[in-house]
Amino acid sequence: MPILFLTKGCGHMSEYYNVAEVFGENVFNDTVMQERLPKKVYKKLKEVIGEGKELDLETADVIAHEMKEWAIEKGATHYTHWFQPLTGVTAEKHDSFITAPMPNGKVLMSFSGKELIKGEPDASSFPSGGLRATFEARGYTAWDCTSPAFVRQDAAGATLCIPTAFCSYTGEALDQKTPLLRSMEAINEQSLRLIRLFGNMTSKKVTPSVGPEQEYFLVDREKYLKRKDLIFTGRTLFGAMPPKGQEMEDHYFGAIRERIAAYMRDVNKELWKLGVTAKTQHNEVAPAQHELAPIYAEANVAVDNNQLVMETLKKVAGRHGMTCLLHEKPFAGVNGSGKHNNWSIVTDDGINLLDPGKTPHDNIQFLLVLTCILKAVDKHADLLRESAADAGNDHRLGANEAPPAIISVFLGEQLQDVLTQLISTGEATRSLKREVLQTGVKTLPDFRKDATDRNRTSPFAFTGNKFEFRMVGSNDSIAPPNVVLNSIVAEAFSDACDYLEKEEDFDTAVHNLIKEQAIAHQRIVFNGNGYSQEWVEEAGRRGLPNIKSLVDAVPALTTERTVALFEKFNVFTKAELESRTEILYENYSKALNIEARTMIDMAGKQIIPAVIKYTTFLANSINAVKSACQGAAATSAQEELLVEASQLLAEAKAALGKLQADAEKGSAMEAGRKQAAYYRDEIKADMDALRAPVDKLEMMVDKEMWPMPSYGDLIFEV
Ligand code: ADP
Ligand code: MG
Repeated sequence: MPILFLTKGCGHMSEYYNVAEVFGENVFNDTVMQERLPKKVYKKLKEVIGEGKELDLETADVIAHEMKEWAIEKGATHYTHWFQPLTGVTAEKHDSFITAPMPNGKVLMSFSGKELIKGEPDASSFPSGGLRATFEARGYTAWDCTSPAFVRQDAAGATLCIPTAFCSYTGEALDQKTPLLRSMEAINEQSLRLIRLFGNMTSKKVTPSVGPEQEYFLVDREKYLKRKDLIFTGRTLFGAMPPKGQEMEDHYFGAIRERIAAYMRDVNKELWKLGVTAKTQHNEVAPAQHELAPIYAEANVAVDNNQLVMETLKKVAGRHGMTCLLHEKPFAGVNGSGKHNNWSIVTDDGINLLDPGKTPHDNIQFLLVLTCILKAVDKHADLLRESAADAGNDHRLGANEAPPAIISVFLGEQLQDVLTQLISTGEATRSLKREVLQTGVKTLPDFRKDATDRNRTSPFAFTGNKFEFRMVGSNDSIAPPNVVLNSIVAEAFSDACDYLEKEEDFDTAVHNLIKEQAIAHQRIVFNGNGYSQEWVEEAGRRGLPNIKSLVDAVPALTTERTVALFEKFNVFTKAELESRTEILYENYSKALNIEARTMIDMAGKQIIPAVIKYTTFLANSINAVKSACQGAAATSAQEELLVEASQLLAEAKAALGKLQADAEKGSAMEAGRKQAAYYRDEIKADMDALRAPVDKLEMMVDKEMWPMPSYGDLIFEV
């Protein structure tokens, strides 16, 4: 089948543009609203966005009309409520703006306030984890006016996309956004309580800021299409290591090649048009691996934008004859991909509560915030770990790869020093100063170093004025980890305020509380090498959980501690948590079942036939040589190869049979924890047993006969 690709360079080389003009071009942002909406309506909407006031239908009608006019100017023919059900991807259902034809046969383009604020997709086909029987199919999408609407232009034409939350008929969350918005309210309320205690009466709102760094792989699309495992599962299920891996570390931050650079250029432009602040791009550690980071934004906008980043990375790859792999572990033996969720809490007047200032030791508010976060992470380490659980991420977390599955907090030299003082004397009297960087070269500028070096092995690292949660999977929504972060920190703030608001002598009380929290939760702090075996043992002695798989992580969602946390702040009800638990197990089992079936298909229809061809070829060669030479000695090499290949073939055939039988058992099981555990324990072992002889065969069989591109072809020849 001939496939048409735009390859290399893509003919875009001559197109230059001004970023400032392009940026946000397709977003119904504040500037557009200010320009287009009547003053009164604009003011009302700002109150809804900023202060959570209710939106009346009359105002919504005006906004909807203006939004439609604006979108039509951008070429939009349809609108969609854009939402994030628990499928892992975004969902949309398009409606065109046209109305019933008028007597003259023409149509009008219309979009009402009601259509803007409420949608009703049939919810029965989205995962609900038992929250909703199929006969109660109603589900509603509700406009999230805090995340701007945008026009997406692609092959389908232009579509007005309205970010929405997605709930069941009875108001239970069926998506990622609803709990996120609820958790943002919780952290807002509790942070305001806390800063009021320190005399801040002016800040009106506190919002979590999030900057997610996104890792991804690019492979050539023609090669990708020859790998059923990549097509169906997003990762390679077979594949021998190439002679060269990432050991030379020559890819990390290496010069970006033309084909990739042209791709990144296109990605940036698309994202900028959508108002996504794509900022940093570089090659990552593994060959063919790259990273894109935006400038941080309010949590819910960051979550939506990250979805757009993932969609755009995939879409633009197609135009460049490539495929973007977002799977956490596309290639065994090569670094996997994650997402680093940078998180801080900032007031509406720009104060970052995680900013230690120059002298953290006398920044009492910061020390309280910091020790509250230590408490939150220590108390809910299992939940934070769970928030990054995903079938693909099991290959990274706890599998000797970055980061380790044990949650710990990296503070760095300066803060560790302050913490040590607090713990030993109850008082911190000094902060380590930032030193001048000495390069020994006169012509290089002297500048002050950061107070702390980085630590790339910590799952939860303090980096100057934010925490970086490094466990999140590259393919996952960043909503769950942020829901957890917002909620657990809100709880710690709330506990602190409950205590401090009652005390007469605030200064003494706050000092005592900081010291108490520092002592009680110092075990969660670890500044060393998170990948080392010593740490695993040390963490065990400290009693920190080391949760290696999704199946073991999921129970954290429904412990008494977790339910109490989420119910207290109305983030999740117990029923919602139970439903999410079911969905997680089910999605995990489904993912592994697809992997097993893909392996069965590839082994049975492609690999075994190829090996048979090869062995037949060897046998024929032996016979030919024998009849020509009439002697045995000359064929011993071929015979050895034939014996070896036949043995491996037998091994593979037996492993395939076992995998087939076990996979059948697995899919017949009832969905739930038991089934998921079966897939993790039995099916994964079966898959490994099949992969091992096949990978050895790949190293022997004539490359011309091997039915798919190798690792070398995939990651070194993009
Ligand atoms: P790194 O050197 O860790 O790879 P990057 O520049 O790739 O750093 O990414 C850092 C991310 O952290 C960016 O998305 C950036 O916008 C974000 N960030 C910076 N400051 C904050 C903050 N105060 N709160 C949240 N995110 C932040
Ligand atoms: Mg980075």
